[in-house]
Amino acid sequence: MSFEALGLHATIVKAVTEAGYTVPTPVQAQAVPAAIGGRDLLVSSQTGSGKTAAFMLPALHKLVSAEVAPAPARTPAQEAQSARSRGERVRFTAAKPKMLVLTPTRELALQVTTATEKYGSYMRRIRAVSILGGMPYPKQMQLLSKNPEILVATPGRLIDHMESGKIDFSELQILVLDEADRMLDMGFIDDIEKIVEATPATRQTMLFSATLDGVVGNMARRITRDPLVIQIASASNRHENISQRVHFVDDLSHKNRLLDHLLRDESMDQAVVFTATKRDADTIADRLNIAGFAAAALHGDMHQGARNRTLDSLRRGQVRVLVATDVAARGIDVPTITHVVNYDLPKFPEDYVHRIGRTGRAGRNGLAISLVNHAENMNIKRIERFTKQLIPATVVEGFEPKRSAPPARTGARPGGWKPGDGRSAAKPGQRSFSKPGAPREGGYNREGGHNSAPRGPSSGAPRREGSSGGYRGSNPRSADGARRSFGDN
Ligand code: ADP
Ligand code: MG
Repeated sequence: MSFEALGLHATIVKAVTEAGYTVPTPVQAQAVPAAIGGRDLLVSSQTGSGKTAAFMLPALHKLVSAEVAPAPARTPAQEAQSARSRGERVRFTAAKPKMLVLTPTRELALQVTTATEKYGSYMRRIRAVSILGGMPYPKQMQLLSKNPEILVATPGRLIDHMESGKIDFSELQILVLDEADRMLDMGFIDDIEKIVEATPATRQTMLFSATLDGVVGNMARRITRDPLVIQIASASNRHENISQRVHFVDDLSHKNRLLDHLLRDESMDQAVVFTATKRDADTIADRLNIAGFAAAALHGDMHQGARNRTLDSLRRGQVRVLVATDVAARGIDVPTITHVVNYDLPKFPEDYVHRIGRTGRAGRNGLAISLVNHAENMNIKRIERFTKQLIPATVVEGFEPKRSAPPARTGARPGGWKPGDGRSAAKPGQRSFSKPGAPREGGYNREGGHNSAPRGPSSGAPRREGSSGGYRGSNPRSADGARRSFGDN
């Protein structure tokens, strides 16, 4: 199977070949011909399976085929000019994109735009622009005034522009929802409905999601017509190219020493370390830099410019350790990431899957390590239930936990897992991470005091205060679509 055989235009085949793609991935092999044929698509397949090209290649194909159409689209500026010459009063002419890609995060939007530029590098007159929160307004107005064929946007900012009349979807042909489940999780459902409503019913719709069950599935079926459902369940769906491990740790200092050791591993090319909070991402990145690692933080409080620079440095290999929170790291696609370290476990089991998917990209192998306190055993169990895989507990020589891992890793302790616990104990200017061998004092007690008397209900029931309910089986969503968290949010 080749890209030519999928029926793609020669300029696109040339561009993907240059990008080093020789054969289409399974999702591309199924999606591309159907999308060229005009079908709506509902697709679920694992991260790293090449979904961007699965929608962008057929879309570019359609746009390039339409390029020969006699009347090329005029820019809003030109339209305004001719309206003025007819004596009409014109303030602004809206951009009229042919394709819209909605993504949950800014990083993902930029990544899609970059991929589009790569796939369309031999096509003239096709422009793709990102419309994102955090980008200066005048800059966005300038991009829109060029009347780009393709808009890649996060829903919130796009709504702003629609409401102020800057975008007109009456000529939209293709709508893509990338990582639709995540957009719904982030609360974008009303925005998405509003955007879909503003597009012509004749559009082609392609929706990509980790799952097509529940709320996403309902929305997916509402906004598509006779869709082809593509669900790629493969070995890599279970992340078989990614080795997963749990290392039990006694306390924060043990965890930090083990992290340093893991990051010195010779097989480590680049790593992403996940933390529960933005503040921890900063603190740990600082500490790792002092320890001699080329580390950088990435989180939602950073300005877009800084986030982009950090990601560029990561891609160029100048940053070897990225310390990130979940939202910021979503969709990061850097094939040289060999290690993912869960410094803190994610709040939701599905985030675990997204995190480990940052490694093992494009068919390579990866290693995903979770540094876990004994009290968090229960959360590992939930992740195992969600992924339907056991994550082996491993011991690193010289870093053995004082308490051995409970054999079946059951018996979670009440109130043991609370990310963010005790943070305020850290005094300003005083690093909670001390140099190896130096006396440790005054550091914040991340472990939430589980070594002393257990907090929470003394009944021993593994329920947590503040939690919206237990995580149930393999369906992380309740009937009303609310996300079930296993920590307090
Ligand atoms: P997903 O959206 O499914 O997580 P991406 O579209 O981000 O995956 O692609 C993951 C990686 O695989 C990217 O680095 C991309 O360039 C690469 N890739 C995509 N399609 C192919 C292909 N046919 N051959 C080789 N690499 C590919
Ligand atoms: Mg993707």
